[in-house]
Amino acid sequence: MIWLRTDAPQFFSDLGDVLRLFYGDVAVSLSEGDTVFEHHFTDDGGNWTDAWASQGRRSVLSRPACDGTPLEVKRLRKRQIKQALYNLLRDLTGMRPPWGSLTGIRPTRLLYEAMDGGMGLEEAVAHVQQAFDVSPDRARLLGEIARMQAGLREAPEDCFDLYVGIPFCKTRCAYCSFSSGEIGDGSLVEPYVRALLREIELCRGLMAEAGLRLRAGYVGGGTPTAISCADLERVLTAAQAAFPGAVEWTVEAGRPDTIDGDKLRMLRDRGVTRISVNPQTFSDDTLRRIGRAHTGRETVEAYRLARTLGFDDINMDIIAALPGEDVADFTRTLDAVRDLAPDSVTVHSLAIKRSSRLHEQLAVAGKGYGQVSREGAAEMIALARERLTADGWRPYYLYRQKYMAGNLENVGYAKPGKACLYNIGNMEETVSVLALGAGAITKWLFDPKQRDLRIERAPNVRNIEEYVRRVDEMVRRKREVIFQGKG
Ligand code: SF4
Repeated sequence: MIWLRTDAPQFFSDLGDVLRLFYGDVAVSLSEGDTVFEHHFTDDGGNWTDAWASQGRRSVLSRPACDGTPLEVKRLRKRQIKQALYNLLRDLTGMRPPWGSLTGIRPTRLLYEAMDGGMGLEEAVAHVQQAFDVSPDRARLLGEIARMQAGLREAPEDCFDLYVGIPFCKTRCAYCSFSSGEIGDGSLVEPYVRALLREIELCRGLMAEAGLRLRAGYVGGGTPTAISCADLERVLTAAQAAFPGAVEWTVEAGRPDTIDGDKLRMLRDRGVTRISVNPQTFSDDTLRRIGRAHTGRETVEAYRLARTLGFDDINMDIIAALPGEDVADFTRTLDAVRDLAPDSVTVHSLAIKRSSRLHEQLAVAGKGYGQVSREGAAEMIALARERLTADGWRPYYLYRQKYMAGNLENVGYAKPGKACLYNIGNMEETVSVLALGAGAITKWLFDPKQRDLRIERAPNVRNIEEYVRRVDEMVRRKREVIFQGKG
């Protein structure tokens, strides 16, 4: 266990994230432990100095004190204390994580922050690389993403995006940490759909009152196509009637074994512009191991059917570093994706969150379960980038999660003109997201054009039965956030 003896315990969680960049899922405490990291902060009026020491090494970082808003002061304090600890850890371990000291923040946000401060794109890329010790390769990736997002990132001020969650899946994937349940005998579907329809109806009133119109809609999960065609149509029809005029509607038809001609025709006829058919991998052995009840062949068939029925914007999700896979397996998945030529491809690095079954399995079976090394994960992610960009896909959004293989990233790649507005708005936080359904989290933006953008969240309860019982309360939570201070 690591003992953080720090003058700034308020940053405990952020400092723990920095330690985990180097030591993996290590336990950290403020009051005990066998390896001590000692920290002292001084503010002499003109300068802030953070000094860290451990195992005979020391790192000291100073910068002129900031006299900005309280939020700016807190942000800069946090960055400096993390950077100083990071420098010490780099010195102690000789490791250099691909995203440097960045944790808990979207790297593109820092890029845009620098650009808002007057830097050009190249200068901002160099600044992020230098200030946070980001690798040159990752810094270049940020620049490419910013170029792809040009003209797509900003949303009109009178708009919101919509997320509708269908939290059912046929089986539960071993790595899943979402608020999704196995559909089982389906008995929860009808009460859930009815509650969702009520939430849609009540939120129609909220958005009308706020004078906002829908820009992009996204039906996710779970697996929306896990429920019947008729039920999914009820939800979609209600959402489109309540919030008309969207320029984009995505439905995750994630699991190929939940897709059929009737569902695809219904989605097409309801004006769904984009769907996702997610192989994750084309290895049937891996699919079995991770608890997905479909084969690679079924993915190909579902994809071809969607194309035949006229879908011209199809995304595929794949995952690097799945347990038991090596670079050759992942290469075969990339080959299959190239041959199918979807319009966009989202490449995830496996994140083994504590709430997933895989986390438990690894805890019991250890590395024998086939956990991919940091180096292996990095090689796969680099290969995906090289292959996809060579074949005409371009990176257009990225995000990082805790517990991700090799501290890497998830990147969405798209062919020209096929970038998903919802994904960009949600990841870059340039538009408010009204989120409906169990476990969905509404994110509301205040003063989006200001430096101190404030984001308030209104989470719905995750448990399906609780959600059904308390749906009116979920809407009240949203009202309180959206209209705070306005009675
Ligand atoms: S399809 Fe997605 S939501 Fe469903 S169990 Fe798998 S990871 Fe979880």
